[in-house]
Amino acid sequence: MPEGHTLHRIARDLHAAFAGQVVEVSSPQGRFASGAALLDGQEVVEARAHGKHLFVELTGERILHVHLGLIGTFTIDAAAYVGEMPVVGQVRCRIATEEHVADLRGPMTCAVVTPDEEAAVHAKLGPDPLRDTDGGPARERIRRSRKSIAALLMEQDVVAGVGNVYRCEVLFRHRINPATPGERLKSASWQLIWSDLRRLLPLGVATSRIVTITEQVEEVEAALAKGEDIDLDERTSYVYKRTGEECLVCGSRIRAKDVAGRTLYWCGNCQRRS
Ligand SMILES: [Zn+2]
Repeated sequence: MPEGHTLHRIARDLHAAFAGQVVEVSSPQGRFASGAALLDGQEVVEARAHGKHLFVELTGERILHVHLGLIGTFTIDAAAYVGEMPVVGQVRCRIATEEHVADLRGPMTCAVVTPDEEAAVHAKLGPDPLRDTDGGPARERIRRSRKSIAALLMEQDVVAGVGNVYRCEVLFRHRINPATPGERLKSASWQLIWSDLRRLLPLGVATSRIVTITEQVEEVEAALAKGEDIDLDERTSYVYKRTGEECLVCGSRIRAKDVAGRTLYWCGNCQRRS
C-alpha cells in the first residue's frame, strides 16, 4: 500500500502539471463517466493530500477525491498531443491537457465531492507529518489508548500517512519498544517520533523512496540542500523486511510479528525504551 509520501508526491506533480489549466476529464474505463462529466472543462485550482487521501479541487467547487487503496496508481506523463496518448489498462479517470496526461487506475475511492464532504474526510484524519506542524492531536489520542504504539501508528485517525515501513523504521531509530501501550509512551518519545516523521517523509516525497538509514538520510538532505541529483545505493532499512537478519546496530536477529494487520519488524535488544 502506498504510504503518505507517495500521495503528497502525486499531489505535487498533479498541481505542477494542471494548476491554473482548464482540463479534459474522462473515464476511459467508463465506471467514473458521470463524475468525470462534472469535472470536464473546469480549471484545476489545487491538488493536495492528507495522509493517503488525495484531493484535486476544480472550479465550481468540484473536488475529485481519490484513495488509491492497495493497488491503485496515479501516473502523470508529459504528452506532446493527448490524442496520441493510448489508454493502457483500466483507466478509471484521465485528466488531460495538451501538455500532460494523468491516468488513475484501480483506486479504492474515486468520487466527486463537495467542500463539506472534503472537510468531513479531513476531520476523521489525524495530523499528517507532511501537512501539519502540530502533532498534539495525535499525542492526545495516543495518551488515552492502551493499544501499542506500533498499532496506533497505523491508525489513520491518529497519524495520517504513516504506513508500515515508516512505523517500523521510526520506532527502531529511537529505540522505542513497539509494544509500549500508548498511555505509557513518554512525551519525549512521542516528540522524537513526530519530529522524525516530519524529517523523513519529505525525503520520501523528494526521492520517491523511503530513506531511513542515518547515513542515507544525511546524504539525501545534503544533496537536496545543494540542489544536486540524488544517487542512492540500493534501498536498505534497519528492520523492515529483515526478519532473521542481523540488526545493523547490535547484531541481534530482527524479529517479526503481525501487529494491526501488517508485519511489524523490530530489534528486541535495541528497542527497549517506552
Ligand atoms: Zn539491535
